[in-house]
Amino acid sequence: MKRFGLIGHPLGHTLSPWIHRQLFSLMDCQASYDALDIPPEQLPSRRQELLSLDGFNVTIPHKQAIIPYLKGLNRRASLYGAVNTVCDGVGYNTDCLGFLQALAGGGISLSGKVAVLGAGGASRVFAMEAALAGCMVTIASRASSVEKARALALEVQEKVPGSQVSACDLDELKGPFDVLINGTPVGMFPHGDACPVSDTVIHGCGAVFDAIYNPTDTLLLRKAKAAGVKAVGGMPMLVWQAAKAQEIWLGTSFDSKDVDALVPQATEELMRTFGRHE
Ligand code: NAP
Repeated sequence: MKRFGLIGHPLGHTLSPWIHRQLFSLMDCQASYDALDIPPEQLPSRRQELLSLDGFNVTIPHKQAIIPYLKGLNRRASLYGAVNTVCDGVGYNTDCLGFLQALAGGGISLSGKVAVLGAGGASRVFAMEAALAGCMVTIASRASSVEKARALALEVQEKVPGSQVSACDLDELKGPFDVLINGTPVGMFPHGDACPVSDTVIHGCGAVFDAIYNPTDTLLLRKAKAAGVKAVGGMPMLVWQAAKAQEIWLGTSFDSKDVDALVPQATEELMRTFGRHE
């Protein structure tokens, strides 16, 4: 039996083992997938144990810290300086693939003027992908961390030559935007009554992607839908980044219909785990 896992800290309730087990069964693959809660100070001493696995996923706070223990990085992981999947000692990043697949599945084209809210790990991927797609990107952070947004904008400009990337205070964000992408936790359970931007900004958007997957229907998404704006939540990204990790580990491809069908099932599983709270 093959052995896989997820490392992070603290892990608490995570949907990843459930999603991966469903994906393994789609592939008729006999494999285990366990959540390994590893505090940062234990990462060096657990290295051999991790590299003896057939593959593993990486989440906060190890996405950058794991890099010195790896043989190398693929192009995307190297571009972001962050790894979420390890196979044969090489680091990959499938968050971007999950993100792009989620947009495509929701009929959202990554083009034109794009606003990225937040300047953390997820926003880094969103800003870089939007710049690679040739979009004009605005990264908006809350007042206390506008410097982080500026630093990210500069980094994206350096890594994606010719890209147009700027930064601003979230409270001063002004549309219209073709796509607005939320990479902040504003609106995440248990703060489901919060929305990161004003109704005016939402009404000026062509489409909205919210990376939050708990709840699946955030206030931002509900407001966007009510305004007739295309809106996609974070669950398809979560499921697809897992599928893309398995494709790397198993050297195979999923039928996209099977993966898409897992998205509502993952939402049901989320409800079973956390209870209905929307
Ligand atoms: P992160 O690295 O901690 O970044 C969070 C960003 O949001 C930072 O820029 C932070 O700014 C900002 N922020 C935090 N609280 C805020 C507030 N109250 N108002 C405005 N900005 C705020 O976290 P992450 O890993 O990027 O995750 C961000 C979100 O994406 C989470 O909801 C996570 O669940 C989701 N996510 C989803 C997927 C998926 O597969 N669907 C994958 C990854 C992440 P400061 O620097 O000022 O704190």
